[in-house]
Amino acid sequence: AKSQGRNRYQFFTEDMSERTHERMQMEQGLRRAIESDALEVHYQPQLRLSDRQRVGVEALVRWPHPDLGMVAPARFIPVAEESGIIEALGLWVLRRACRDIVGLPDCDGRQMRLAVNVSVRQFLRDDFVTQVLEVLTETGFPAEALELEITESTVQVIERSAGILDALKRLGVSISIDDFGTGYSSLSVLRGLPIDRIKIDRSFVLDLTENDDARAMIDAMLALGRSLRMKTIAEGIELAEQADLLTRLGCDEGQGYLFARPMPLADLRLSLTRR
Ligand code: C2E
Ligand code: CA
Ligand code: CA
Ligand code: CA
Repeated sequence: AKSQGRNRYQFFTEDMSERTHERMQMEQGLRRAIESDALEVHYQPQLRLSDRQRVGVEALVRWPHPDLGMVAPARFIPVAEESGIIEALGLWVLRRACRDIVGLPDCDGRQMRLAVNVSVRQFLRDDFVTQVLEVLTETGFPAEALELEITESTVQVIERSAGILDALKRLGVSISIDDFGTGYSSLSVLRGLPIDRIKIDRSFVLDLTENDDARAMIDAMLALGRSLRMKTIAEGIELAEQADLLTRLGCDEGQGYLFARPMPLADLRLSLTRR
């Protein structure tokens, strides 16, 4: 609290308008950053757990702000979602990431798989599938190597999602359910959908080695993946013990600080030539 002498009501309203002002500035700044290509995309490797080889990367947006420094997505993605800016931002990230990653090899010398986050508002656009197709055509990125990460709530909220997912599948793009286990998707929702991968949320990985419940949950999600013939990936792996246990439990892939942090394209390129 700044000024303890003031009464609470005054403090509260002042705080509110300050926040509104801050938010408007952030929206404006974001719009400008998109228009002037001032955002950045960092890439975090995704590894096959059996041999710890790199099979893909996830694109994660960054906002280098002139006054605020590097602004974390946790601060501006919610603002972008509420204001609708996420639609332009998401398209910008998709285009930039496809352009950046096209031609880069995975551990087997094939096109590196690229995972891009898609927010519900983007997904809901009538022209979303067309936008994806346009970006693929324009960048030459092979559809087979593109994976879109959508959240459990996106799958659920939208009755139309099945049709959109089918259209994306026809393009050859694959779909992953992000933050899996944190939403409320019933098995019946997942069953009928063309989903390629489930991405086990970091919160389960965090408790994995200390908490039997977390382990049971992960076991259940892996079993679900197997029975629905979906691949599995765990995010937020920070400890060797977590990676080893996930490998033993049969999780296909992993991502986390243990293996690599999200990095700028230049560092990703360097790490590829050094292998
Ligand atoms: P997410 O999609 O669940 O992405 C994973 C987040 O976990 C990233 O945070 C990543 O840097 C972080 N992370 C990776 N490994 C570890 C680890 O071992 N430990 C810990 N503690 N964290 C780890 P980041 O980059 O700050 O992004 C946060 C969220 O912002 C993302 O969560 C995603 O929901 C959203 N986001 C980021 N980029 C985009 C984007 O281009 N579009 C949309 N719609 N959302 C995005
Ligand atoms: Ca993600
Ligand atoms: Ca996630
Ligand atoms: Ca998460």
